[in-house]
Amino acid sequence: MFIGNKWVDATSGRTIPCVNPANETEFDTVPAGGNEDVDAAVRAARAAFDGGWKRSDPARRAELLRNLARNIRESRERLGELETIDNGKPLAEALYDVDTAAQIFDMYADLTEQFGGWRGTELELPVDYLKTTVTYQPLGVVALITPWNFPIEQFTWKVAAAIAAGCACVVKPSEVTSLTALALAELVQNSGFPAGVLNVVTGYGREAGEALVHHPGVDKVSFTGSTATGRRIMSLAAATLKRVSLELGGKSPVIVFGDVKLDRAVEWVMFGAFVNQGQVCTSTSRLLLHESIAPLFLDKLKEGAQSIVVGDGRTAGVQMGPLASAEHYNKVTGYVAAGLNEGAELLTGGGRPKGLNNGYFLEPTIFTKVEPHMSIWRDEIFGPVLSVKTFTDEAEAIALANDTDYGLAATVLSEDVARAERVVDQIDAGITWQNCNQMVVMQAPWGGMKKSGFGRELGKWGLEAFLEVKQRTRWLPDGGLGWYRPAA
Ligand code: NAD
Repeated sequence: MFIGNKWVDATSGRTIPCVNPANETEFDTVPAGGNEDVDAAVRAARAAFDGGWKRSDPARRAELLRNLARNIRESRERLGELETIDNGKPLAEALYDVDTAAQIFDMYADLTEQFGGWRGTELELPVDYLKTTVTYQPLGVVALITPWNFPIEQFTWKVAAAIAAGCACVVKPSEVTSLTALALAELVQNSGFPAGVLNVVTGYGREAGEALVHHPGVDKVSFTGSTATGRRIMSLAAATLKRVSLELGGKSPVIVFGDVKLDRAVEWVMFGAFVNQGQVCTSTSRLLLHESIAPLFLDKLKEGAQSIVVGDGRTAGVQMGPLASAEHYNKVTGYVAAGLNEGAELLTGGGRPKGLNNGYFLEPTIFTKVEPHMSIWRDEIFGPVLSVKTFTDEAEAIALANDTDYGLAATVLSEDVARAERVVDQIDAGITWQNCNQMVVMQAPWGGMKKSGFGRELGKWGLEAFLEVKQRTRWLPDGGLGWYRPAA
């Protein structure tokens, strides 16, 4: 683990195995951090923050962030390979994640330099005896807890914004995929950051994760993960009144109207359901299909799903890798069994791809004859499992789209722009796409409504999530006295 610029093992000496999900072999271990390790990391972060980082010049922070972006680009292949071995995703996608990470560190370098909130904005007041300015300052020591589906990206979204804001961080990556967070910590070390600005504690959620949420020295927890864990974190954080932001799960709809260009729409639907093995918080795992095109669309979709090349992410040409862990594989295949039990029909998939006898592989899977009460329609499966329902008119599509506890993302495919805009207006989701799917616009706010959490990452919203706001009101000696007259 990386604490105060030093590489350390867990105080307890315990470790967690790192398993390659493509072949089920253990190839490394990471420390299983606990209370004492978390305490050391929080102290290191506090010392860095109070020791000057909180007053550091944004231009200096920008320079360090750009050094880090450059170091990430130079380690591109190594980081990509490591991500694929640890998480399973196809190498091309892992490399895309690395490239995006470098861009995000650069973007936050620009944002912290340009941010007007450091100097402050003066408010227009209806009185002439007061001057009020609003300034921002770094929030403090922040705990950044990330999931296993996009380990490099999730590290980056949080760390880049927190550091740009002038916070000191303790990152707790998922126990399933901790290696790239440690590799990134090494690059942070080589980029010139003061000791303690970034610390990485590996470990289990119930141990290292909860220790961070309990720790009185932590000012905020920024969490990405499941809704169940988010709920627990929010309740635990109440004891110390920590700020929390929660990026949680989803069960996002993709609505396909009858006027779409069929082949392209099929591609967007497949991308939304199967990219990253469907382990995407914004995965559009509920397909709402206009009845007029349903038979032809489903034929094409089935053919498309069956043509996806599944295999070890390091093999050239592979489009879908294994699920990230044995535990997760069991969860996803459990949902496939539940779907069948509940009476849905498999259009394609549901089993192990031929020839892949080892590794956590599942075929791209599509269910039809799905009813709204079924678990495959309601629960976040977080795997390559798409559930399909048809609709007859716009109002029904909107009602079905909103019939979920979640509110993370929604996609509308239609050649009629006015209709797509109208539908987007009526869907309760934080991220919406029209005639595309799963596009991550790093300048735009990312986060959910309803049980998908609250708070936004990326863009200026990501920066503001790590800031406190302060009003500075001053009496103007030359101003009129207004209604208030101080004693002479
Ligand atoms: P998870 O909730 O099991 O774990 C996420 C992180 O929280 C891990 O680091 C884990 O160790 C830690 N953790 C677990 N229990 C904890 C506890 N009691 N206290 C503190 N920390 C704890 O989620 P996961 O299985 O790793 O990730 C999948 C989930 O993440 C899905 O629900 C997915 O939708 C969500 N996700 C959301 C977004 C988003 O932007 N909204 C992005 C990616 C993933």
